Amino acid sequence: MRLEHDLKNEEIIEKVASGQLKLHAIDQQVGPVEGVAVRREAITRMTGIETKSLGSFSIDAADVVGRNIENMIGAIQLPLGIAGPVTVRGEYATGNFYLPLATTEGALVASTNRGCSVISTCGGATVRIFKEGMTRAPVFSARDVIHARDFVDWLAGNFEVMKAKAAETTRFGELVDATPYVVGTDIHLRLRFDTKDAMGMNMVTIASEAVSNYITEQFGIELVSLSGNMCTDKKPSAINNILGRGKTVVAEVVIPEDVVGVKLKTTGRSMAEVNYKKNLLGSALAGSMGYNAHAANIIAALYLACGQDAAHVVEGSGAITTMEMRHDGDLHCCVTIPAIQVGTVGGGTGIATQRECLQILGVAGAGDPPGTNAKKLAEIIAAAVLAGEISLIGAQSAGHLARAHKELGRK
Ligand code: NAP
Repeated sequence: MRLEHDLKNEEIIEKVASGQLKLHAIDQQVGPVEGVAVRREAITRMTGIETKSLGSFSIDAADVVGRNIENMIGAIQLPLGIAGPVTVRGEYATGNFYLPLATTEGALVASTNRGCSVISTCGGATVRIFKEGMTRAPVFSARDVIHARDFVDWLAGNFEVMKAKAAETTRFGELVDATPYVVGTDIHLRLRFDTKDAMGMNMVTIASEAVSNYITEQFGIELVSLSGNMCTDKKPSAINNILGRGKTVVAEVVIPEDVVGVKLKTTGRSMAEVNYKKNLLGSALAGSMGYNAHAANIIAALYLACGQDAAHVVEGSGAITTMEMRHDGDLHCCVTIPAIQVGTVGGGTGIATQRECLQILGVAGAGDPPGTNAKKLAEIIAAAVLAGEISLIGAQSAGHLARAHKELGRK
């Protein structure tokens, strides 16, 4: 029986290697779970590269094939470190949190940990969400300017029915805004949704299609594309930095002068100056869209650990960090993150390792009421970014940056 089975797999591998069978067709022959090993063997055969490490993983292929991945051959691994605890005083996240950080950058966990210690010593980061809503923006093409203007007027009177059309496609999602942007005779309709605990890109894409179909049928206008890039998904963009996308979150902490001295070995005045000249002026001079030291570092490490869509790091990188000396000598530190896209259900959040990281943060799965877990996660991430900013600006202010990387990042 075993021999027969092995012979069948060998035959499949040979067919793939000789181009008679496509890689994706393997699953139909042996099923999605065994397909992982067979496909990996076929890749080894074709490339001559042994892939023993790629084949050693704890993810249940049955959970992810067809949901999170196609043509699966294994899994890569990243080291996971822990920073914290960091004290967070949000509306949804309150208490002390250990931060799971997946990274290969030596010194990142240690640096974030130092920032967490500063924040916790000062009583915690105060965090608030200012705006939320995941966006998808289909683009429509009008016949002429008058048709375009009629369309914009029509949209204003049809929001409630568009909302109802969207609601037919999802139990949790809700259309909350539809703003048209006109260029020539094209209309980009930026649809914004409350997606509760889901990051929501699949949810809002499906709902946007239903809304767009209704529009084309009822108004008679051509849908050019379900996404016209005014969304703006996974690209740096002014619109996300200004209007927000996902969640717009602000985190602050006030650090007394003595804590700056003891924990960061520098002064508040020096940190404020470094922040001004680096994060604000330097970023402006460079034409950067992010006015921060390394928000993307902390966001990436948390997103990877917690099953978020890693490509959304680009939107989180638009954060603005401010550090101002108060009259009493305290240093007021703040990060404003215009666009954090996070979910605690859906996407990669159900994969066992990522789910355990969400559990460490106390946010795995659906919140009660719905939406509260994703908001809690966004608040924790903002506090973590604040920790990273304080530690790095502190290090640069004290002239420690190169030393930390030399000691911790190189062996
Ligand atoms: P999803 O895994 O497609 O769907 C999550 C679903 O969970 C929701 O649609 C919702 O069902 C259900 N749900 C259960 N409890 C919920 C709760 N408490 N709050 C909210 N929803 C709840 O995930 P998604 O967040 O919509 O999309 C994320 C995925 O989209 C990621 O894998 C990402 O990589 C991918 N992505 C897609 C696009 C695209 O254009 N399609 C773009 C970028 C990324 P109901 O809808 O029935 O309520």
